[in-house]
Amino acid sequence: MQHNLELARRRAAGARIWAVVKANAYGHGLAHALRGFALADGLAMVEFDQARWLRESGWAGRILMLEGAFEPVDLDEAAALGLELVVHCEQQLGWLEARSRGPVIAVQLKLNTGMNRLGFQPAMVRQAYARLTALPTVQLRGLLTHFADADLPGGADAARARFLELVTGLPQESSLANSAALIDQCHGRGDWVRPGVALYGASPFAGRSAAGLGLRAAMTLASRLIGVQQLQAGDRVGYGSTFTAPAPMRIGVAACGYADGYPRRASTGTPVAVAGVRTRVVGRVSMDMLTVDLTPVPQADVGAEVELWGETVPIDEVAAAAGTIGYELMCALAPRVRVEAIG
Ligand SMILES: *Cc1c(COP(=O)(O)O)cnc(C)c1O
Repeated sequence: MQHNLELARRRAAGARIWAVVKANAYGHGLAHALRGFALADGLAMVEFDQARWLRESGWAGRILMLEGAFEPVDLDEAAALGLELVVHCEQQLGWLEARSRGPVIAVQLKLNTGMNRLGFQPAMVRQAYARLTALPTVQLRGLLTHFADADLPGGADAARARFLELVTGLPQESSLANSAALIDQCHGRGDWVRPGVALYGASPFAGRSAAGLGLRAAMTLASRLIGVQQLQAGDRVGYGSTFTAPAPMRIGVAACGYADGYPRRASTGTPVAVAGVRTRVVGRVSMDMLTVDLTPVPQADVGAEVELWGETVPIDEVAAAAGTIGYELMCALAPRVRVEAIG
């Protein structure tokens, strides 16, 4: 995490960094993120209970709530904890206007520049800005937007241009770039960047490896072999008997399945490493187990270490084999998996 944050720092070329730690730090555990991102300029997330935990754990720096308040009571929580709230819609603006007393709440105004998820439409931006800056119990600290297509070449250009046009003359700090925009777009990053997935060492781009971007996997999902079977040609493996041994071969049974967050859709051929050697999953992934081809690691036996993803097996490759993205696999790590810090 520290390595990736340093890399983001260099790419950011002076812009400050919100390290995005939503979804339990993309599955890595907020406590670990707190250590890894101690040098970030702020932490960004969506969960109020987790923001409270951060404060109670000693994080005194800035915290940005990326979806803002979900209900009016969140305003009091934000004031009490010193959280900055994104304001992205009329309802949230109304809640702030209805709160005439109490400590000042810091907010950031979100603009919809084409993604059409959260944010004020361009025609509403000036009015929302004026209403926010008129409130004595609100301090407007920034303007932000989010890109739909920053992972495609030039994919953020139109949205960025729209943003810059909309904020012309508004004296506020800006924040635009997610991981993809931070890595790829050297111009127009804004005053703050908001990398998430890259800080955990996965690639935000479909066809480009994290290692090629200089990133290092923060998460290793590892288990061990709990069984080995010697197959003859024609023997089948697992539920549905989807894999048939073409010749005599050894397979290993690893104690990891979809109840651990390993994707069931990862079928025969998905990369996996046994005792540090890359091989492949064979047959169907079940709840608590999956089966691997031991042909490239003939010495491997019960107890051998199995890396499901990490430094040897990029999470993005596993994700691609399962028809998803690294983000989803990280976040889906199941509660029963023991998470421990290494190093
Ligand atoms: C999740 C999120 C990010 C981080 O995106 P990555 O693709 O993980 O870098 C940035 N900004 C907002 C608003 C987000 O919700």
